[in-house]
Amino acid sequence: MNNLHPRNQRVINLDHIRGNMAELRRITPKSARMMAVVKADAYGHGAEEVARAVLASGADMLAVASVDEGAKLRGCGIRAPILVLGAVTEGDVADGVRHRLIQTVCTEKMVQMCEKAGKDSGLIAEVHMKIDTGMGRIGVRNRAERDAVLKEAERSPHVRLSGAFTHFSDADDGEEGMRYTEEQYRKFRYLCDGLPKGLTCHCANSAAIHRRPDFAMDMVRAGISLYGYPPVPQQSKLTPCMRWTAKISHVKEVTEGEYISYGRTWKAAGKTRIATITCGYADGYHRSAGGKASVLIHGKRAPVLGRICMDQMMADVTGIPEAAPEDEVVLMGQDGDESISAEDLAAWSGTISYEILLSVGSRVERKFEDHTGKQGVEA
Ligand SMILES: *Cc1c(COP(=O)(O)O)cnc(C)c1O
Repeated sequence: MNNLHPRNQRVINLDHIRGNMAELRRITPKSARMMAVVKADAYGHGAEEVARAVLASGADMLAVASVDEGAKLRGCGIRAPILVLGAVTEGDVADGVRHRLIQTVCTEKMVQMCEKAGKDSGLIAEVHMKIDTGMGRIGVRNRAERDAVLKEAERSPHVRLSGAFTHFSDADDGEEGMRYTEEQYRKFRYLCDGLPKGLTCHCANSAAIHRRPDFAMDMVRAGISLYGYPPVPQQSKLTPCMRWTAKISHVKEVTEGEYISYGRTWKAAGKTRIATITCGYADGYHRSAGGKASVLIHGKRAPVLGRICMDQMMADVTGIPEAAPEDEVVLMGQDGDESISAEDLAAWSGTISYEILLSVGSRVERKFEDHTGKQGVEA
């Protein structure tokens, strides 16, 4: 029986991506440029399609995690500036230069790697300097380290330093987090002071874009908010872009005392209609959500019963008598008046919306919905 194909799919709404881009532009000072973070395959939404959508609707630049991700976008014909957020590596630097990616440096050695790759290829290696103001990940940590990198860049004819950036570690937290973010911002301003004129200085992630538009500086970096999930409660109107669905494969009625799924964690207290669903943890549905999650069927909520299996899971459809095999099951997204957000799934699974969007499995088919952005807009 292959009539259940596709057993499991995610539909990405590119109109919503464009709408979110416009909304982020609206709440960001006009003087700041907009970088769209499309790392990790655009948080699971599809890097190429999302990149084209954002470049057509207000993004000036893209950001990826690695040279490999940037090279893939270049391979699709995308010509916009792309920043690689991770530190430049010996193994990737030459490819990064060849693909005209902006690479990130924070030591003299990294600048030297870029100089060599630039010289060997006859190209200019464009770089941004990362400044660590309290994230503790990568970056120069003080004026001495900054000046060493600066000096190395100045004496490297094949290196062009065009920007400097830092990353906030706690901008989505309460008052405490905001105080720490302000401290990070002050430190960043201090370390930007004395850099050559004309560099693009940037620090604001999604949380800061919403909470501190005054931290926008020359450019902001929008990640999760672009996909419809502001990391803090806010006024902006963002719309989730990913809808994840499966199907009912089987429906039955069980009676008192019967068990559902591994470990017998759920036992029927009486007559219950059970739907089996074509999705499991191999599709990226977190096993830890078992017993807490619900799904939507015919616009109604059905509690997930017992443990999530590798490829299947079960839900209580006693209250949904019309539920039948082949029917759509919404795992994440809107269904009638009901909806399940990545944040709901995150709460049931003990994680954050970022990880939910990213854990949707590679075997889950991806489709795109696109009504307004017709082809022809060259990125
Ligand atoms: C991932 C990332 C971002 C985007 O963060 P969001 O919270 O998703 O907006 C911005 N800057 C850097 C350096 C990142 O690694």
